[in-house]
Amino acid sequence: MKRMKYFILSIDDGTIYDEKVIAILNRHHIKGTFNLNSGLDDFVWFDDGRPVRRLSLPNSLSLYEGHEVASHSLTHPHLTGCNDDHIGYEVGVDKKNLERIFNKPVSSFAFPFEDFDDRCINRIKAIGGFTAIRVSEIDPSFRFPIDPYHIKITSLNVKEALELFPRFLEDEKAELFVFVSHGYDFEFGDSYDLLEELCEMVERSGAESIFTKELPQIMGF
Ligand SMILES: [Zn+2]
Repeated sequence: MKRMKYFILSIDDGTIYDEKVIAILNRHHIKGTFNLNSGLDDFVWFDDGRPVRRLSLPNSLSLYEGHEVASHSLTHPHLTGCNDDHIGYEVGVDKKNLERIFNKPVSSFAFPFEDFDDRCINRIKAIGGFTAIRVSEIDPSFRFPIDPYHIKITSLNVKEALELFPRFLEDEKAELFVFVSHGYDFEFGDSYDLLEELCEMVERSGAESIFTKELPQIMGF
């Protein structure tokens, strides 16, 4: 029997560009995991001189319908620089807020920045209710992680993902492709068409598009 292949599309930060991203995902029946910070509604920051605005989450319920809402911490700090109580607050309060706003359980977490360690992972596990954690490490091996609390990233770049995905399909041992991005990457990179191409490719391939929270069960945890 041919091994099933799985595709996770994970989008961080909850910016206004998620609207265009979700329209593309919905057209191709791709499930997205959206990693959101509940303490930064309407927040604007500047990326290379260009303003990036976050959504107001209570006004975005219908936008994220049909997709996974996951925690990305309350205010997007560097968690390795926070003590245990602070990590518990940043992640625990974000989980509670998101569950209240979206009225559904939140069971996966994605680390903000390229910044994580075992202490942070253990502290997040101790909060309870999380079954999957996405770290910021790159691993293009296409294999399931050993530990669902340590899910690595296949690619952070849509151009690269488009090149890697056919190899993922050809590789008999390949199991999992994790593509991670941000709405503003497509906006500022003028690359929504490449996302559309990737989603079309996934849709046609027969690989199963899954939520991050579904991975532990698929892996047998
Ligand atoms: Zn982020």
